[in-house]
Amino acid sequence: MTSITLWKPESDVIVHQALGKSGEEASELAKILFRCVIQGLDASDPGTGKPNREALWEEIADVEAALQWLREVIDDEFDCDRADRKLNGFRRWQKMLEADARQGEPA
Ligand SMILES: [Mg+2]
Repeated sequence: MTSITLWKPESDVIVHQALGKSGEEASELAKILFRCVIQGLDASDPGTGKPNREALWEEIADVEAALQWLREVIDDEFDCDRADRKLNGFRRWQKMLEADARQGEPA
């Protein structure tokens, strides 16, 4: 039998809204990231003509702001070491991708 747990919304209204806004802005960032993937970073929204790159930077700014607010209201416990490890991993992956691409080049 599946266990059921009584879940209730975050009770602190400020924390509730900061969490919600962060999620909303993260989803807006995800939307433009996927548009850049499928249309190209330097393409434009066919409906509005807005460049994807411009929309991407707007949503990055929105997410940065929302996360900064969230960090302020939930007592910042940002793990700089974890972020550094993650960034170093991405940079190592980039070097691997670049090396792999060079292998495909004509000699
Ligand atoms: Mg936004």
